[in-house]
Amino acid sequence: MLGLLAVGSVALDSVKTPFGEVSEVLGGSATYFATAASYFTKVGVVAVVGEDFPREHMAFLKGHPIDLEGLMITKGRTFRWRGEYGYQLNEARTLETQLNVFQQFNPQLPSNYKTAQVVFLANIDPELQLEVLLQTRSPELVALDTMNFWIGGKRAALLKVLGKVHIVIINDGEARQLVQEVNLVKVAREILKFGPKVLIIKRGEYGALLFTREAIFSAPAYPLETVFDPTGAGDSFAGGFMGHLARTKDFSMDNLRQAVILGSVMASYCVEAFSLERFRTLRLDEIMERYRGFKRLTHFDEMPNAV
Ligand code: AMP
Repeated sequence: MLGLLAVGSVALDSVKTPFGEVSEVLGGSATYFATAASYFTKVGVVAVVGEDFPREHMAFLKGHPIDLEGLMITKGRTFRWRGEYGYQLNEARTLETQLNVFQQFNPQLPSNYKTAQVVFLANIDPELQLEVLLQTRSPELVALDTMNFWIGGKRAALLKVLGKVHIVIINDGEARQLVQEVNLVKVAREILKFGPKVLIIKRGEYGALLFTREAIFSAPAYPLETVFDPTGAGDSFAGGFMGHLARTKDFSMDNLRQAVILGSVMASYCVEAFSLERFRTLRLDEIMERYRGFKRLTHFDEMPNAV
């Protein structure tokens, strides 16, 4: 049985950062998510690509424990995204989004996907997120990511899916846009009113915040000397986070905290190279070493005596 199911984009990205530029490289929210999650559990992908999708990219995906039965290849062009970043790497400026084959995509889940216990609705048209969710059989945990493109363009559909998920994972700018509020604590309170039990706000180089109605957990981003391309960091975070939860099937607050750190570890590796290049060589022992690095980075003792 499939441990983790994801729907999202599989894309060809063209990206410019202050450190370089790449054209039509492998990208997409489902691609980054599934690759990061595949270090922890087998993940099935529901998405579509066109006949122009390069064979080498398919080979990359097949090289990881990713189930591709739900990845359709249809006539037409693969989804394309073009974006750029300034020295402030936190926010991508979208220059072009071509939905292409996603415009007519009518996802049909393979039968063994329907019983997945953990589901991730990666950034894609909320109507597709909903269609996939409706084909699943009461999963134990459902999480969702989205972006400004859909918050502005498909708000009603997005609010409908938001009411059906347990966890929302979203970046700070988009969280503010969703509820038109600036202060992140107030933003969190408002988003939790839509129905989810947990909200994670990704803040790029400032780390991530996890909110429930009762508690807040804060994780820094790993201080890196080499950051080339932040594209996919959010999806890689979600992959590490959900991959750990799907593997352990423990949704307690303590385990959610560990999942946030593993998400941060995967995001930190993602940004070290363009596209998914870093995942070509990344090993599990490097992931665990950086996890320990996070522990050292954030650990401090109790005060022995009151001041
Ligand atoms: P992030 O983790 O937020 O940096 O996600 C980057 C990925 O999202 C890129 O690889 C893009 O291909 C993909 N992407 C960008 N815009 C959209 C969109 N409107 N819908 C789905 N995926 C998108």
